[in-house]
Amino acid sequence: MQKIIAANWKMHKTRGEAAQTAKDLAAALAEKNLEGRQVLVFPPFTAIADVAAAFAGKEVLAVGGQNCYPAEQGAYTGEISPGMLRDAGASWVLTGHSERRHVLGESDAFVADKTAFALAHGLKVMLCVGETLDERVAGRLHEVLSRQLGSAVGPLAQERLAGRLAIAYEPVWAIGTGKVAGPEEVLEAHAETRRLLTEFAGADGSRLPILYGGSVKADNARMLIGLDNVDGLLVGGASLEAQSFAQIAGV
Ligand code: PEP
Repeated sequence: MQKIIAANWKMHKTRGEAAQTAKDLAAALAEKNLEGRQVLVFPPFTAIADVAAAFAGKEVLAVGGQNCYPAEQGAYTGEISPGMLRDAGASWVLTGHSERRHVLGESDAFVADKTAFALAHGLKVMLCVGETLDERVAGRLHEVLSRQLGSAVGPLAQERLAGRLAIAYEPVWAIGTGKVAGPEEVLEAHAETRRLLTEFAGADGSRLPILYGGSVKADNARMLIGLDNVDGLLVGGASLEAQSFAQIAGV
């Protein structure tokens, strides 16, 4: 399966800064062997067009939005539609990122709506799932993954999802904390995610990439990407600087 290495820039970078980082990244990646890899960048909305322009003509690189609203247009102040993201140059969108679930209060049902709507409106979707520290300590990993995947992927069971949907397993306690999950924890969660995908997405479940996210850095990326059922990495902090992210993308 193709490995996907994705950068989530969150609420960082002006348009100029994003364009410069994207150019530096494209130049740094041109020197690496990225066969079998896809590199994605999720900049803030304001910089999507600039990053897309910097990546023009480079097949291995693509751009995505960090969020979308499940409607084509309308009275949804502050929101953005899948069509608007595509118009700006995005081909992907993140749904269910833990910061949207836990800081902005998005429910499983809302994440599921966005996922289905974005897929139906021509975007590829990276659906983020993962447990909080309390949930892990309480032994609720299976319950959380089953609920988050079941609600968003279950209703899509009749659709062709391969090549259109990726899952990012991101333990909330590992995001932005410097506490990367250990190999055993990643293996367990990814195996469980794979099992649940084959349950919820039928035959395509074995063909959907599962990325790991949470304090990925250049010095742990090789170990993580070598683990069973780890088909890519979603990188926050360490993706903000072009050389550091290029190093991760090329491991
Ligand atoms: C993320 O935001 O998806 C993420 C994984 O962040 P970090 O790499 O900084 O933990």
